[in-house]
This record gives sequence, structure tokens and C-alpha cells, in this order.
Amino acid sequence: MNGQRCAVYCPSFCVTDHVAENERHLVDVTHESTVLDLLVPRQDGSVQLLATARVMASDAGSEDERRPIIAVDFEDVDSLYLLPSEVDAVAERVAAFEGWLRALGKVAADGAIAV
Ligand SMILES: [Zn+2]
Repeated sequence: MNGQRCAVYCPSFCVTDHVAENERHLVDVTHESTVLDLLVPRQDGSVQLLATARVMASDAGSEDERRPIIAVDFEDVDSLYLLPSEVDAVAERVAAFEGWLRALGKVAADGAIAV
């Protein structure tokens, strides 16, 4: 880190390669879990990424600011136009994503690996 070797203590959910990230200062260290993707099938056989979710925590700031949070990013702001025949498959993916979100909440709350 900034030319110096130092120890970074990661929470159990962290999969970040801090050596590769080469953060310059300890306050720049962010711990991140595996990213979960909400992919929905399309009529043409492709899949569309709607959202991602992951647990994140920073080593900087107050105790409250260092608590793990769940980041949900929406990758595509375009509308998703579904045929009636596509709704069930998409709804199943959304329901699964709901379960994954709850699992990430547990990971952030107690540091367990549940994903
Ligand atoms: Zn880490």
C-alpha cells in the first residue's frame, strides 16, 4: 500500500484482492462480497442484466460508517417490455433476487457467508 507492506483485516464476506487493488491508503480500503446478478431471460434467448447486489464495508470513518451495507445497482435503466409468455421466467428471477437480498442482509448483519 503506497509502497509499504501492511496488513488488511477482511470481514468473512470479502472477496476483494487488496493486493491487486493496490489501495494507496488504509482509508481507501473497501471490502466487497461476491456480486449477485439479477439476469432475466429474453425471448431471443439472451439474458438481460437488471441489477446487481453485494455487501460492502469500508475501513474508514466512524463505527457506524464502517458497518457493512448492501449495495444494489441497476445496470440498465431502459424499460423491460415483456410478452405474457416471458413474465413467469422474469418473475421467478426477481423472486430469487429477493431471497438473495435477504441473504446479503444476513451476511452484512453477522458476517456469515450465506451466498
Ligand atoms: Zn477485504
